[in-house]
Amino acid sequence: MANVLYDALFAPHQGKAGPFLFLEDGSTLSYDAFIRLAARIAHVLRDQGVKSGDRVAVQVKKSAEALALYAACIQAGAIFLPLNTAYTPSEVEYFVGNAEPGLVVCDDASSAALLPIAEKAGARLMTLNGDGTGTLTAEAAGKTDRFETAVRKGDDLAAFLYTSGTTGRSKGAMLTHDNLLSNAKSLVEAWRFTANDVLLHALPIFHTHGLFVACNVILLAGGSMIFLPSFKTDEVIGWLPKATSMMGVPTFYTRLLDDPRFTKALVSHMRLFTSGSAPLLAETHNAFEARTGHRILERYGMTETNMTTSNPYDGERRAGTVGFPLPAVEIRVVDPETRKVLPNGETGVLEVRGPNVFKGYWRMPEKTKEEFRDDGFFITGDVVTVDRDGYVQIVGRAKDLIISGGFNIYPKEVELLLDEQEGVLESAVIGVPHPDFGEGVVGVVVPKKGSVIHEEKLLAAIHDQIARFKQPKRIFSVDELPRNTMGKVQKNVLRDRFGDTFQ
Ligand code: ATP
Ligand code: MG
Repeated sequence: MANVLYDALFAPHQGKAGPFLFLEDGSTLSYDAFIRLAARIAHVLRDQGVKSGDRVAVQVKKSAEALALYAACIQAGAIFLPLNTAYTPSEVEYFVGNAEPGLVVCDDASSAALLPIAEKAGARLMTLNGDGTGTLTAEAAGKTDRFETAVRKGDDLAAFLYTSGTTGRSKGAMLTHDNLLSNAKSLVEAWRFTANDVLLHALPIFHTHGLFVACNVILLAGGSMIFLPSFKTDEVIGWLPKATSMMGVPTFYTRLLDDPRFTKALVSHMRLFTSGSAPLLAETHNAFEARTGHRILERYGMTETNMTTSNPYDGERRAGTVGFPLPAVEIRVVDPETRKVLPNGETGVLEVRGPNVFKGYWRMPEKTKEEFRDDGFFITGDVVTVDRDGYVQIVGRAKDLIISGGFNIYPKEVELLLDEQEGVLESAVIGVPHPDFGEGVVGVVVPKKGSVIHEEKLLAAIHDQIARFKQPKRIFSVDELPRNTMGKVQKNVLRDRFGDTFQ
């Protein structure tokens, strides 16, 4: 094959008059128009000196043109490097310095701040705004709409995707054409996507979920997307009648459930709702089914591995679990200390091997070596239990494990118990320095609307339900938990905030 990813995801759509993107303003972009736009942008990349294997760093708002820039990078053989739009210029400086791209593309509004950063790294700078304007598209307008696709093999890099930075500094995961294509193929099959699908897409496209899981799956299946810049409940409710499927993070579902206009009738025609990136509470799963009759299909993955497990399309979608490994993906659960493989039912660290697993962290050979076992398994750092039927349940992250007085405490177990208590909406349990125990357990709870949490009462309520060493020594009440754009709870922020509780 000439260019593994381009040939599978983009080339087949050349000349197709059918819709690819339904946009917020009511306009539609056909597949053919999208492919031609991407080819014109690919010419601009070449003119800017971007060669096969060069990186293109992109910090832009979500738009059809931004997605065409992804296609253009793949067609030109470049490595696409999308960056979270929330990153400040000083954060972008780290990524640009680390990745050394040939070109940086950003919004007009941040171009003044990013120009010196790009120049320092030896990169050129172009702009692309949320409305599709900017120097990139202005130049592309004058180009021909045919571009000779660069040769890229399965093992060549297609993208650098930086991890979310939930547990520390973001790492650049090097993803190959084969990594991305193998996963897209598995997901199209597992979730039964076809050319008839219209996916409601309200996720950001700088993250694996919105970019690779959502867009690659639709491109491979030849379906279309309702492509919204962000999740706004009003807008999503307005568009749902035109969709067949939606992919979301848990907060999308809790926000929809909070709205009385979100009814069974509104979504009775829908084929599929999926959730991932952060844990979907069993309570949300059940409330969603009670309201709509649909059972959300929860799946699990990470930047480094693409998608690893999924609940079944047919068969039981088990709340509080992330299902089974996808075909061709091998998993095992190991003891974090001895590294011995554990039998089902025991809790340990998940390791993954398969065509989906990335090549390593960019310019971090030591870190890469640390996270891979000799036999090719990648150490995810997620703590899981596999139940008797083979369903994987995420218990938490190894980095969030609390060791208090020599005992291991998995926060999830304590969080589930706190969540069940009267007046508690949700909770996060963390370990912070403690002079006697090493770490002391702290509970942070969000009260339900109209409720007030009394620390003493809550502690008394759980007193007989869980071993003494697992019980929080203090419980704090907050209005909301700190979350990033993907809905992930930022425990590092909580650890900073409550770090001196026992000092
Ligand atoms: P960093 O690696 O920089 O600390 P991160 O791990 O949050 O950040 P991502 O690659 O975006 O960066 O997220 C992957 C992680 O998200 C997984 O390792 C897992 O902890 C969590 N995750 C993804 N899907 C689910 C899910 N369905 N349920 C629970 N956790 C999930
Ligand atoms: Mg991670």
